[in-house]
Parts: sequence; structure tokens; C-alpha cells
Amino acid sequence: MEKIHRITANAHTHTTWCDGKNTAEEMVQAAIAAGFSCLGFSGHSYTWFDKSYAMSQEGTREYRREILDLKEKYREKIDIVLGVEWDGGARDLDPADYEYTIGSCHYIQSRKNNRYYTVDYTAEELEACRSEEFGGDGLAMVRAYYREVASMVKERKPTIVGHLDLIRKLNAENRFFDETCPQYLQMAKEAAKACVDAGCIIEINTGGVYKGYRNTPYPAEPLLRYIAQLNGRVTVNSDAHDVKGIDFMFPQALTMMKRCGFSSVWQLTAGGMKEFLIP
Ligand SMILES: [Zn+2]
Ligand SMILES: [Zn+2]
Repeated sequence: MEKIHRITANAHTHTTWCDGKNTAEEMVQAAIAAGFSCLGFSGHSYTWFDKSYAMSQEGTREYRREILDLKEKYREKIDIVLGVEWDGGARDLDPADYEYTIGSCHYIQSRKNNRYYTVDYTAEELEACRSEEFGGDGLAMVRAYYREVASMVKERKPTIVGHLDLIRKLNAENRFFDETCPQYLQMAKEAAKACVDAGCIIEINTGGVYKGYRNTPYPAEPLLRYIAQLNGRVTVNSDAHDVKGIDFMFPQALTMMKRCGFSSVWQLTAGGMKEFLIP
């Protein structure tokens, strides 16, 4: 197996086709400047119930066309790969339209009405979810989130699972639930096991730290250690929404992986996900 001394690819990249701040071509140029061998694009899939951050249906077609054009234009300099961040609530997406998929859950669907509560948007919305849907029980909310993740991976088997414990994003100082309690970790572990059993690669996502929400990447270290014990496969992604974030914290993520017991890391290439030895 080939050794890797630094991460030279990112499979989780947003652009102005969804909620990113830079165009796809600007992201390509940033990846080349960062010395990447490969860049994968993962626009937010169209969600009928929330059009604020996702690609439109027409925009999705144009996104696919542009990424494939960029693949040709830059083929001498970098491998460009067409992916999508496939939201758990998105319908009518054909994974065959993409070279890989990132399966991500950003919502908890109400059992009482048609509402979808965003788990990573504002504390007010998460608070509304906890009180209206779960009578103030934060761990019940967490259970619903991880069940959503587990059923999504079982049903869809995405190439990569995005930010597995995103429900922690707004939970600094255990504001919504106690993430140090054994019940919490058990729920997170069950979702992680479902991802591994479905054959998915789990991402270490540095985007939450870049945006200033948490101090460490997703998943948290206790969960990452458990994934290592299961012989789960992991990859490092920045979830970049702008050019500066494209390789944020990649060296630290690799160090964290070693500390948690991983000896190899998976990385996006033109031929799909490939395993590299961490020296
Ligand atoms: Zn996401
Ligand atoms: Zn994303």
C-alpha cells in the first residue's frame, strides 16, 4: 500500500451553486494552489422542503455540466470528480448521475406535522425541535437524529457518510444534551456501526472547526476510537464553503487519526476512493 505523508484531496466541496462563497473554478484553483492531486465537488442536493441552502433543480443540471467541463479543462493539473451531498430528506436523486455520494443528515423530520428542523442552522431552531418535538428531552432528540443516520446509510449506502455527529454542532457546553453521558455515546456508536456495516467510508470533517462552532472535527474522538476498533474506513474532508477552508486542519486530522488507532486513510482519486498507509 502506498504511504501518505499529507492529505492531498478533498471530497467535500461546496460552491455558489449551493451555499458556498466561491465558484467551482475558484475552488479548483485553490485546490491546485494547495498542492492537491484531486478535488471532489459535493453540492447540496435539492430538498423540496428547504430551498435556502441547496441547489435548485435547474441549478443541479448546470452544476453537473460545469463540474464535468472543469474536469476536462484542468485534467493536466488536477483530477476533478463529480459528487453530491445527498441529504437524508432529499427525494428523486439518482446516485448514478454522480461519481460518488456523501450521505448527510441535516434535519430531524417532525412526527407531528410536515416540518423539518435543521440541526445545524441556529440554536433557536434546535431548541424549537427539542421542546416542540421531544418535550425538552435532548437525548430523545439525539436518538431521532442517529436513527435517521442509520436508516439513511442502510437504505442508500452512500460512498461517504458526512459529519456523522453533526447533532453536536450547536451543543457547545452541552447546551442541548450531555454528550459525555454513556447513553449519548451508545446512540452515536450504533449509528457509526450502521455506517460501517453498510460499507460506507466515514468522513473526518473539519468544517465545523473552520466555522468556529467546535474545537475538534466531527466525529468526536471517543466515537472515532470506536470506529477504529470496528476497522471502519475513514477519509478527511474540509466541507469547504470558501477557498481558504479547502485544506483546513488536514495535518491535525491525520495526527488525530493516528492517536485514535487508524493505520490507513482513504482518499478520493480519479478512480474512486483509495486506501493509503499512514506512516
Ligand atoms: Zn452537510
Ligand atoms: Zn457539506
